Amino acid sequence: MTIAEPAPADTAAATRTAYRTCPLCEASCGLEITLRPAQRGGEEVVRIRGDRDDVFSKGYICPKGSTLKQLHEDPDRLRRPLVKRDGEFVEVTWDEAFAEIEARLLPVLEEHGREAAAVYIGNPNAHNLAGMLYGRPVLRALGTPNVFSASTVDQRPKEISSALMFGGGLNVPVPDVDRTDHLLMLGANPFASNGSLATAPDWPGRLERLVERGGTLVVVDPRRSRTAEMASEWVPIRPGADAYLLMAMAQVLISEDLVDLGTSTDLVTGLDELVELAAPFTPEAVAHATGLEADHIRRLARDLAAADTACVYGRIGTTTAEFGTLTSWLVDVLNVLTGNLDRPGGAMFTTPASGGSNTRGKPRYGREVKLHRRRSRVRELPETFGELPAVVMAEEMDTPGQGQIRALVTIAGNPVLSTPNSGRLDAALAQLDCMVSVDIYVNETTRHADVILPAPSALQKGHYDLALLQLALRNTANYSEPVLPLEEDQPDEWEVLARLALVLQGAGATADPALVDDLMITALVQAAVGDDTSAVHGRDVDEILGLLAPRTGPERILDLQLRTGPYGEGFGADPEGLSLDKLLENPHGVDFGALKPRLPDVLRTPDGMIALAPEILVADVARLWDGLDGRREHPFVLIGRRDLRSNNSWMHNVSVLVKGKPRCTAHLNPEDAARLGVADGQEVVVRSRVGEVRIPAEVTDAIRTGVVSIPHGWGHDVDGVQMDVARANAGVNSNLLADETLFDPISGNAVLNGIPVTIERAG
Ligand code: SF4
Repeated sequence: MTIAEPAPADTAAATRTAYRTCPLCEASCGLEITLRPAQRGGEEVVRIRGDRDDVFSKGYICPKGSTLKQLHEDPDRLRRPLVKRDGEFVEVTWDEAFAEIEARLLPVLEEHGREAAAVYIGNPNAHNLAGMLYGRPVLRALGTPNVFSASTVDQRPKEISSALMFGGGLNVPVPDVDRTDHLLMLGANPFASNGSLATAPDWPGRLERLVERGGTLVVVDPRRSRTAEMASEWVPIRPGADAYLLMAMAQVLISEDLVDLGTSTDLVTGLDELVELAAPFTPEAVAHATGLEADHIRRLARDLAAADTACVYGRIGTTTAEFGTLTSWLVDVLNVLTGNLDRPGGAMFTTPASGGSNTRGKPRYGREVKLHRRRSRVRELPETFGELPAVVMAEEMDTPGQGQIRALVTIAGNPVLSTPNSGRLDAALAQLDCMVSVDIYVNETTRHADVILPAPSALQKGHYDLALLQLALRNTANYSEPVLPLEEDQPDEWEVLARLALVLQGAGATADPALVDDLMITALVQAAVGDDTSAVHGRDVDEILGLLAPRTGPERILDLQLRTGPYGEGFGADPEGLSLDKLLENPHGVDFGALKPRLPDVLRTPDGMIALAPEILVADVARLWDGLDGRREHPFVLIGRRDLRSNNSWMHNVSVLVKGKPRCTAHLNPEDAARLGVADGQEVVVRSRVGEVRIPAEVTDAIRTGVVSIPHGWGHDVDGVQMDVARANAGVNSNLLADETLFDPISGNAVLNGIPVTIERAG
């Protein structure tokens, strides 16, 4: 994929080139954006292509990257706040919008208490500097225990296993793809997704180079994805059975004396317990559950152990499963057992420039991870990291009683398309007393809102990947300035969120968002000055605040984090060190090189060790064992699918990304199709306990028998959605089938990989 087409002729009048990191997926590619004067005044984007000088992406870009122009210019993208009056949205001023929130939302909270409110944080916030920083004041101001996010339909199991083993939810070892000899990948399809929880542009190229240099790529997936197509080996496992495979591989390593802990040797606890836990999970014991021959499992384990360097990497198929947290844990157990944790070519820790949970505080010193501190009201599902699982959101809204959710704030989220039993959630949202959304579209979720506050477009805001660079396959840093200015009277995103926080805490609709901003930076500087591991320990708070002036907003906080981060200039301690000014001087980013071994200092567990047998996971292994006997056979199980041209529902409103052959189809194996009497392209009805969809079948041998695959994020043809292109290419909502009673009990994460369904030919 591409560096880019030749410049169109009309770039002749171009006046300026800007550089910006793409925020549309986790790969964080650098973009080169050409602008020219626009006839109506200001500037317009002429072309977007890969930035060949970007230190990380080196010109790579996927088809989505260039569509920042279309997203910016999309007539459906909201520019002004909307308020619903008599069932219709009308445009209002910003002052009117905040006054409306004050008038509609606060009375609900006053009458029913703060526990009657909820907030849902969508995935785009993880790619967004202001969203990452100023969402927190909104949560604090709302003061509700009902906090939900996309993390519990996506990655919470990995965050938990990393926190338990290494002492930080984002202290996730990432696969050193560029140097490994052997990559065992489960439930991931980076040819379509461009990687996840492992940030790197051009995953496809990195994998191709791995194979070209004689390395081995083994892809474990029920579907022969594009990644599996190019892999050295495709292992067509049964959906949801990864934990069995990984546990059996651990058993083989242990029983065949192939364990070599390498640099972790003196740093692990729980090895004896792990040996005991793995013992019964022989390849023979798990063969039926995984759908794999015992000898095959043995060979996979031996190959992993024999490779000079190797890493195991699991992604969404492993976390959206009934044993999601166990699977995430076992991925890193195998990395440890084979001595591949924290060595080049293995699974390595990052050193993020803006700091993170593995750089802050004292090395080898952390606090105990406290999970399940409270439970949801209706089903008593557990909290993790301050959030309740998204699978309880609808029932918390539609079940009467003390604490029933009556008001909702969503920030860049579309849970009607992205969370289980979305039919029930959709109905529950319609019953709310008040809903406020920060969003750029009237979509399937925000159509229920009373007030919608639109953030600026991606081209109008500054960008730094605070979260994703904590997971990057190289240590890099890159800040992007806004490419286009805000429109007249348009507030910046941080101002929208800060002002919303002020309204929610009762400071009034006209309160100045700078109040929140100043409080935040002061608190952060005070914390840094009081931290004896910080570069500014003991310095005067006002002095540091003075050195950060005159910046405000997210850039001021980012500057503090960079200057006190691992490469930071320390407010004068190292004049060559990193700061926001230095990033501004380097618009293609700064490369700090390949990942470096960081054990033991990277650990933030209470005892400074790698926990191989955390208590809560050990206790869950009994469920894994019981599952071997109790595994029910279903006519079909449903799994998801990613497409290169899609990441979230915004992209379905971009013509170039949805044109051509419909992508929202049900993949069916030819044997299954023949048994059902279904021909390619014919419609089928797929039913689960909670709903049904009618969808064209795509018959392909790229999927196991007994498995059906439908991509998520579609289903745009519902009343009130104001996304014309998406409505014309509607597809079906796969989350109408996802069952909210299926979840991983440790993380509360939704099961989206392996939902029991039936299929019949549509009449
Ligand atoms: S791979 Fe991701 S970050 Fe790169 S251009 Fe595509 S959408 Fe943007």
